[in-house]
Amino acid sequence: MQNRWRDDEAAEFVKQYGAQWGEDLARRTYTSRLLGAEPDLVLHGGGNTSVKGTHTNILGERVPAIYVKASGHDMAAIETDGHPGLDLVSLRKLRALDDLRDEPMMDEFRAGLFNPHAATPSVETLVHTFLPPKFIDHTHADAILALTNQPEGEKLIREALGDEVTVLPYIRPGFKLAKAVAAAYEANPQARGMVWMKHGIVTWGETAQQSYSATIELVARAEDFLAKQTAKPLKVAVQTPVEKARGRVTQVAPILRGLLAQPSGDQDRPFRRVILLPLTTRDVLDFVDSDRGRELALTPPLTSDHLIRTKALPLWIDAPRYEDSTKLRDQLSKAIQDYSAQYGAYVDRHAAHIPAGVGRFDFLPRVILMPGLGALCSGKDVKAAKITCDITAHTLAVKSRVAAMGSYEGLSEEHLFEMEYHSFQQAKLGPSAELPLAREVALVTGAAGAIGSAICEELLEQGCHVAATDLAGDALSSLVEDLRKKFGDHVIGVPLDVTDPESVAQAFSAVNGTWGGIDLVVVNAGVAMVAPLAEINLDSFRKLERVNVEGTLLVIGEAARHFKIQGTGGDIVLVSTKNVFSPGSRFGAYSATKAAAHQLARIASLELAELGVRVNMVAPDAVFSHGARRSGLWAEVGPDRMRARGLDEEGLEEYYRQRNLLKATITARHVAKAVLFFATRQTPTTGATLPVDGGLPDATPR
Ligand code: ZN
Repeated sequence: MQNRWRDDEAAEFVKQYGAQWGEDLARRTYTSRLLGAEPDLVLHGGGNTSVKGTHTNILGERVPAIYVKASGHDMAAIETDGHPGLDLVSLRKLRALDDLRDEPMMDEFRAGLFNPHAATPSVETLVHTFLPPKFIDHTHADAILALTNQPEGEKLIREALGDEVTVLPYIRPGFKLAKAVAAAYEANPQARGMVWMKHGIVTWGETAQQSYSATIELVARAEDFLAKQTAKPLKVAVQTPVEKARGRVTQVAPILRGLLAQPSGDQDRPFRRVILLPLTTRDVLDFVDSDRGRELALTPPLTSDHLIRTKALPLWIDAPRYEDSTKLRDQLSKAIQDYSAQYGAYVDRHAAHIPAGVGRFDFLPRVILMPGLGALCSGKDVKAAKITCDITAHTLAVKSRVAAMGSYEGLSEEHLFEMEYHSFQQAKLGPSAELPLAREVALVTGAAGAIGSAICEELLEQGCHVAATDLAGDALSSLVEDLRKKFGDHVIGVPLDVTDPESVAQAFSAVNGTWGGIDLVVVNAGVAMVAPLAEINLDSFRKLERVNVEGTLLVIGEAARHFKIQGTGGDIVLVSTKNVFSPGSRFGAYSATKAAAHQLARIASLELAELGVRVNMVAPDAVFSHGARRSGLWAEVGPDRMRARGLDEEGLEEYYRQRNLLKATITARHVAKAVLFFATRQTPTTGATLPVDGGLPDATPR
């Protein structure tokens, strides 16, 4: 562990934030980010920091204040408002109480905030309040946990860190922990820090640098101590190659994701799905393939902070039947049923301790460990699943480190339950309102074009995870680059040639291997040409047949096979055209091939209904562009139409506007909204066509 404090960087924070927020909070923000940048110290919102100072109120009076990290805020990216200010004097008085439950304690925090709109401070706020030093740093460092989570933990901590630290047994975060910490500090005020068994470490100082440096120095001592231990590494008889594990993920993930989808009771949207991320690193594979993998995996988490993300225990699959998908499905299904029954019994055993207003979690596992594959981590979206994955990677690394030294000892079931069903912890999972497509994955073909890119954007804005597919090249990569700026991990680009069955299968596998499955397939790729029948060149006609007809067939066929494996229904939306109903002259190849595609989608609606798959079509009139993205189709057709009608581009757009009943300009966004209507399943509809044309009586579907 390196000390990353740099005077010039600290000065930069003071320059940026000092005038408005004060120099102390500026440096507090700086060292909090330094801690947050070390995944071996804290992960995703773990740990907390504080600084004491003053607050100037509306009367101009300076009153003693404490600024404590807000609950769940990620230190790696914390801003100055991530440390809300509280009235230090009134909070300190709480120490006179014998006990204080979490809910009234949280009310005291909210009442003590100088800014009533500020975020709720950490559950560990009173630890920071009761400790006298100005700066306090608290983390859940891996190296410390590797020592505390052993039967001889306290002895090991003293050996590793020397007598400069105070050691406290495990106490659940809250009022009692704060009182115990204050008493332990007063008993040994010379100490530089304090280790809380099976929880983490606290350090302090009169400056931000002192407190931060104490954390780094003590954690570095623990790391050095661990490095010197005679280690008996886990034995791995047969190593699974990473590539092989990744291949298995694409086979297993859709089955598992289907089994982890919970029935919702809503006939239109019958499942609450999860996003499933794989963990197939060399270390994780060696862990699950090792002689002690199972025994170590089925032990409690490193620290109770992780519980709400991982649950107390993962699901372990013994000897997975990769060679036979049917047997594998049965095996996984049975294992999930057993897990749920055990989780239900655990909740029942402790039900009397669930605080008022705290709901029960579902009974499903968050982490699934499989020899020969690694881990699959679930979450309500990619962000939540990523947090579970990161925690899992660290947990397995620390457990194997501990196993090399001795034996692992986690928290008792009572402590685990108390923390899992803790109102503060549950609040970290965030507001329960979700965007309509937050738990869904879409694959969009022809994504780099005008309509395709608008569909991707619309789906992403509704929370969907979107695989943008198109022919490999600049158009696709620049689209994905643009979308990632706004939507981050919710979007990936996958090269796909819809005319090549291999490429179609690979694209589906790539998406399954990334997010665990696919729920919506938007068949949008298409090409056009202009020529009268008398002059159509057969090769050109066949090119349209391949993309528009065979491409549609291949993508729908692959989607159908995938939806069957996943077993939770799905949606297919075909971007058709008004030409299917109202063809134009010199547009035979396009109209005929799109009509065939349209008919294939209608057939799919008949064949796939029994799987719970809905297939619908949207039929737009001409769309020229979407932002800077030009419609490839209109690049082909536009010039001919302009010549035929003696119009320039603007004139042609106006011509299309004037020919519909509503005199509406049809945009790519309009088409995307029509796709969204079907994707969000507003009505029990399949096999239907939604025109997006401003009203063209000749093109009304019939
Ligand atoms: Zn903590």
